[in-house]
Amino acid sequence: MNNKIYDAVIIGGGIVGTATALSLQQKGIKSVLVIEAEKNLAEHQTGHNSGVIHSGAYYKPGSLKAKLCSEGRELLYSFCKQHDILHERCGKIIVATEKNEIPVLNEIEKRGIANGLKNIKRLNKEEIKEYEPYASGEEGLLIHETGIVDYIGVTNKFRDLIIENEGEVLTSCKFLNVVNPSNRLVVETTKGDFNCKLLINCAGLQSDRIAKKCGLNPNVKIIPFRGEYYKIKKEKEYLVKNLIYPVPDPKFPFLGVHFTRMIKGGIEAGPNAVLAFKRNGYTYKDISLKDISEMLLFPGFWKMAKQHYAMGINEFRRSFSKSLFVKALQKLVPSIEDDDIVPGGSGVRAQALDKNGKLVDDFRIIETEKQVHVLNAPSPAATASLSIGKYIADITIKKFVR
Ligand SMILES: Cc1cc2nc3c(=O)[nH]c(=O)nc-3n(C[C@H](O)[C@H](O)[C@H](O)COP(=O)(O)OP(=O)(O)OC[C@H]3O[C@@H](n4cnc5c(N)ncnc54)[C@H](O)[C@@H]3O)c2cc1C
Repeated sequence: MNNKIYDAVIIGGGIVGTATALSLQQKGIKSVLVIEAEKNLAEHQTGHNSGVIHSGAYYKPGSLKAKLCSEGRELLYSFCKQHDILHERCGKIIVATEKNEIPVLNEIEKRGIANGLKNIKRLNKEEIKEYEPYASGEEGLLIHETGIVDYIGVTNKFRDLIIENEGEVLTSCKFLNVVNPSNRLVVETTKGDFNCKLLINCAGLQSDRIAKKCGLNPNVKIIPFRGEYYKIKKEKEYLVKNLIYPVPDPKFPFLGVHFTRMIKGGIEAGPNAVLAFKRNGYTYKDISLKDISEMLLFPGFWKMAKQHYAMGINEFRRSFSKSLFVKALQKLVPSIEDDDIVPGGSGVRAQALDKNGKLVDDFRIIETEKQVHVLNAPSPAATASLSIGKYIADITIKKFVR
């Protein structure tokens, strides 16, 4: 063990962990160490997401998600501009394909306005086609603030700045345990032990387990939901100009399969939301008995299953049937066909579930005297990463002045 005492060790080299480390440094807490289990940063959620800078329209006004997404969105645009990271504020449309979806569309518009969006435009059938000639719907919303970005590029830039500010980032370094001998913490990892004053857990899909190892009862279980994508074939990319989203099911914290133009080229369709049988289970063949048994033994799991089983079965059917997937896409773009898409990648969302069977909607960040744990940071946490970082830095700074 080296004798250095870091101000903070941050577990997790995704976008939230690195943004947090950088935000701490910006508040004067310079001596930070980020530890990441994988060989590279952003290997999990951050590197497998849709690459969208969300506007913040969906989230309940007053929630952490609403506040941190709106703030984080603009911080992220400025950051990308300043550091020459690929991004574009291209806007998106949300389309109500059936009349019965219009009340939810109205609610999204209201929330968007309450969350500070300036230029939401209501679209009628004809206007939808002005923005997306191949999309079809009863009514729509155009949201100018939405954009696309290279989140791996952002995370790597965060790392470069952390190191420039004399912080450290260690990859292939897995957190194992923490002990608290006296006035410091000793963090045990696969690359040795590190002393620090504060420990911050930004471990995404493993965050509940790490909280437990740190002596906390997280009161939630991370449930992995895989999102599978298709890609539109090059010759059919003209079907989508930017981003086309459906009206989401308000009972579920996911946005529904949509079309996304990617910042490095290509158009993705998806993701769905299938229960994964392994944390980090990127295909249906990935199964972990440990992960499954932990899920089944958690009381909230069965309550959630009872509430959402119909939706769950539909998502599974769509996962195995390309034609059902295409059917969902055809609601938005009727002329898209089976042959126009090929399988793309996938990502796994870390979604916290509470004991009552409720999928935790808001970000959840808890603290103890010497620790901060991010226990729920699903979408739009990549968009909000800089403001989540600032939020954690504000909590942390209070611990230093105590
Ligand atoms: C399919 C999909 C689409 C999405 N689309 C969007 C989008 O368009 N826009 C948006 O804003 N958000 C989106 N999100 C959400 C967004 O990607 C996540 O909210 C965000 O990436 C979370 O970042 P993170 O750093 O918390 O997690 P992660 O990126 O998962 O990072 C956690 C890190 O912790 C590491 N770790 C775990 N255990 C240990 C350990 N023991 N020791 C050391 N390190 C450890 C992991 O290896 C990992 O690198 C999407 C997510 C998914 C899955």
